[in-house]
Amino acid sequence: MSLHTPAQPLGGRVAVVTGASSGIGAATAEKLAALGARVALLARRADRLEELATRIEKDGGSALAIPVDVTDAAAVRAAADRIRARFGSADLLVNNAGVMLPAPVEELATDQWQRQIDLNISGLMNVIGAFTPHLVAAAAERGVADLVNTSSIAAQNIFPTFAVYSATKAYVSHLSRHLRAELGAKQVRVSTVEPGIVETELQSHVTDAGAQQWLSHSRETMEWLAPQDVADTIGFLAALPPRANLQQVTIMPTGQPA
Ligand code: NDP
Repeated sequence: MSLHTPAQPLGGRVAVVTGASSGIGAATAEKLAALGARVALLARRADRLEELATRIEKDGGSALAIPVDVTDAAAVRAAADRIRARFGSADLLVNNAGVMLPAPVEELATDQWQRQIDLNISGLMNVIGAFTPHLVAAAAERGVADLVNTSSIAAQNIFPTFAVYSATKAYVSHLSRHLRAELGAKQVRVSTVEPGIVETELQSHVTDAGAQQWLSHSRETMEWLAPQDVADTIGFLAALPPRANLQQVTIMPTGQPA
């Protein structure tokens, strides 16, 4: 018997969202739960995850909060085992945790370079390593699975002082194209979502004065995307028929030129 209905097209599916304690990840977890998926919530802040899990359950959904630092490969593998024990193999992975720390390259902010590389690249790979076996097994069993990687328009466009961040996102987009070609034959769809600017906590970590100024000016002159806009997009692509893979989605604030 099929568990999905028009109102809950993701019924029966098991979603994992990283970076679920705020912004795009939190909104996406909530959306996927509303569409019928059981969701595992991963990030470091346990209190935020518990709050979100409670809200999802109150709304009739099913959620499991797992505090984890995704830069710790062993901890991510342990999280994957917990999810399999509770829900079965994950078939919808939203690999979303990330950090943006722009600075002029000549300042040699090497600790910030490293944080971005550790989370946006190595953390992303830890999650792919832990969950690819889930996705492949689930796709063989249920006919489809999704790997959705959150990239950025920074993967394609040129923003001075954002070189390291942008390069980590170029990695995410190019990796996704390769993985799609590799995993598609196994019914695992791979998508990359490249948003323009979204109102989240991402901007609050920026310490560079020039970038802060650019961000404030941008906020005053255009309406940024809301996290729910990206969440709706991910919900849409996951609910497509198994034959259709939305490979790359760019979602922009209407007023953002590039
Ligand atoms: P937020 O800062 O709101 O969310 C980032 C999330 O990542 C948080 O839940 C944070 O939770 C989590 N996180 C950070 N470090 C770790 C870690 N070591 N282990 C596990 N989780 C971690 O920003 P967004 O929602 O905007 O960011 C989500 C993604 O969207 C990022 O990849 C970002 O690059 C991308 N993006 C954002 C855009 C924007 O304008 N906002 C535009 C384009 C792309 P915690 O601190 O609890 O661990």
